[in-house]
Amino acid sequence: MDSALFETYAGLEGRQLVEPVLRDFAGRTAVVSSFGAESAVLLHMVASVDRATPVIFLDTGKHFWETLSYRAKLIDRLGLTALRIVSPDEAHLAAEDPDGALHSRNADACCRIRKTIPLQKALAGFDAVISGRKRYHGAARATLDFLSISDGRLKVEPLAGFSALDIQGYMATHGLPPHPLTGIGYYSIGCEPCTAPGGTAAQPRAGRWAGTSKTECGIHWSHNGRAISQPARN
Ligand code: SF4
Repeated sequence: MDSALFETYAGLEGRQLVEPVLRDFAGRTAVVSSFGAESAVLLHMVASVDRATPVIFLDTGKHFWETLSYRAKLIDRLGLTALRIVSPDEAHLAAEDPDGALHSRNADACCRIRKTIPLQKALAGFDAVISGRKRYHGAARATLDFLSISDGRLKVEPLAGFSALDIQGYMATHGLPPHPLTGIGYYSIGCEPCTAPGGTAAQPRAGRWAGTSKTECGIHWSHNGRAISQPARN
C-alpha cells in the first residue's frame, strides 16, 4: 500500500473522496452497506461515480424484512449492478447457533459467525473498502478517521465528518427514500433481535444492543490497523 497516494486524498470527504478512490482502486474497491437508516447517502455517492461498484451486504439471517425490502428498493432506485449478498457459513451456524438464538446468549459470538467471518471472506481480493460510518454516532466512532489501513487494505470513511443534518440534507436534496423503520422511531437499524426503536439525533445508536455494553458488531475492528490521515472537516 503506497502511503504517498493517500496524501492526495487529504481534506476530501463525501463524494469528493469516493470518486478518486474508485478511480485509483478501480476494480479493487468494495462498499459495505447495511442498508440501514442512513445508507442511502453513501450508496448514492457511489452510484453517481460507478454503478458497477461491488456492494457487500451481510445477510445475517436476522434482518428486519423492511431492511430487505429497502435494499431491493435502493438497488433499483440507484441502479447499482453489483450487489453481493453474503451469508454466514452453514457449518458455523450448525455448530455454534443451531437454535438461532446465539444472539441472546453471546452476541459477540453471534456477530462473529454472522458478520465478521463472512465479511473477511467477502473482502478477499479487494484492496480498498468504503463504509458509511459517522463520528456523530459517538462511542468508538467519535474519533473515526477518514482514511486508515486495516488488514493491509485501505479503509475509507467518506461520511466520517457528516452530521445528522448533513445526512438529512443530502437525502432531501437527492430525493432519496427513507428506510421504512425510520418513520416509527428507529434511528439506527441492524439485526431485528438486537435493534430496538429509540435513540435520538444526538445518540442514534442507543437502540442497538440496548441494555448491554455492546456498541459494535466487530466488523470494523482490526488488530493491525493504523490511521494514515485525518483531514479536517471543511
Ligand atoms: S447484531 Fe445481533 S443478531 Fe445480528 S449478528 Fe450481531 S448478535 Fe447476531
